[in-house]
Amino acid sequence: MSINWYPGHMVKARREIEENIKLVDIVTLLVDARAPFSCRNMELEKIVSKKKVIFILNKMDLALPETTLEYIDTFNKQGFMAVAIDSSSGKGSREVIQTIKLAFKDQEEDMLRRGRRIREARVMVAGVPNIGKSTFLNCLVGKKMAKTGAKPGITRGKQWVRVRDDIEFMDTPGLMWPKVQSAEQGLKLALLDIVGENAYDEYEVALYLISSLTAKAPQILHDNFQLVDLEKSSERLLQDIARRRGHLVKGGELDTDK
Ligand code: GDP
Repeated sequence: MSINWYPGHMVKARREIEENIKLVDIVTLLVDARAPFSCRNMELEKIVSKKKVIFILNKMDLALPETTLEYIDTFNKQGFMAVAIDSSSGKGSREVIQTIKLAFKDQEEDMLRRGRRIREARVMVAGVPNIGKSTFLNCLVGKKMAKTGAKPGITRGKQWVRVRDDIEFMDTPGLMWPKVQSAEQGLKLALLDIVGENAYDEYEVALYLISSLTAKAPQILHDNFQLVDLEKSSERLLQDIARRRGHLVKGGELDTDK
């Protein structure tokens, strides 16, 4: 499957993150709880690797809770902190705050040892388009979206938003384009609405969804489309769905595009 590339934007986004990374202690990398590993971008991870990194499995309301826990465990085993949230409702935000505090603990202790004032943790939100960066930021900052203003000398005009007395977020999320390394990853990103509609073939994506559901969650095909016989090709199942829904083109042919 071909995915459109945006080299111009990529370069700019990358440069922006490289500049801003110097100003923060912690980077929260947003991924989609439904397919967190498909949303990873190793290039981005390399840029932020000198900082404390927390993977945020966003949209957990759309994922199976037990699978989300397994994914968190996998991130932990790879040496990363990871936590899940539903940024739409705010469920999980307390755990996110706790994880940020934990990630900042070493630095806090270091400041204490050196007899310095303990300052707030500075955090950046980064991730691919549509992953929920703005929603996440709004969810944590909420009504307190009061800008704390630029800090002369260190922030070069950057705006910060305060979550609590001890945590501030950079108000501009780091945007990164997805790095698509396999056809299957591209199909997943299409289903997650991360790559734009123009970048993929909808028919191909639909067939992939049907074959995944047949293998992993046949009940969904049964409940939503009343498909009983799943021992067919994905093409045939897609036709069955079109028939069920009465999607026909002129002449009575099935309209699978619809
Ligand atoms: P951004 O491009 O990364 O800033 O993404 P947005 O914050 O604009 O979110 C993209 C879409 O995902 C929007 O339609 C949001 O409402 C939706 N969204 C964001 N976070 C969540 C979440 O935790 N759960 C659900 N169900 N939707 C979310």
